[in-house]
Amino acid sequence: MAGAYCQFCNHRCFVLRRLPNGQELHVATCLRGAAYDRERTGYDFQTSTNPSDIAVDPVILSSAVRYGLGRSSYIVHVIVTNVIAAWPNLTEGTREVIRRDVKDAVDAGRVGSDADRQEWVRLLAATELTVGAGTPRS
Ligand SMILES: [Zn+2]
Repeated sequence: MAGAYCQFCNHRCFVLRRLPNGQELHVATCLRGAAYDRERTGYDFQTSTNPSDIAVDPVILSSAVRYGLGRSSYIVHVIVTNVIAAWPNLTEGTREVIRRDVKDAVDAGRVGSDADRQEWVRLLAATELTVGAGTPRS
């Protein structure tokens, strides 16, 4: 849940989701946490509904990443968690832009405090398997 740390990734990787039965709960956005959620509820962050979902142009997400890079703020965690949650729906082009921006900033040390750096590294780790993994869901 929000505020608590995930037992699988040691980050607050949770997002609020709604199940088909109407129940709302916080689910994990890391691979092992998502597997646990599927086992526990039948759904994970990708197959359940975001009750506050809004449609935004993907450029808003890549712009949020550029805004967050270099900052030392809670907003870095919020941006990283939301980008990971939206990742399956992003185009290959947007994925490449975000990963390149984050990787360049991490490599150059332009990522705020160590806690912020860990968040950006979490984004890279969570998304590396899906780069080049084909077309997103529509
Ligand atoms: Zn987690």
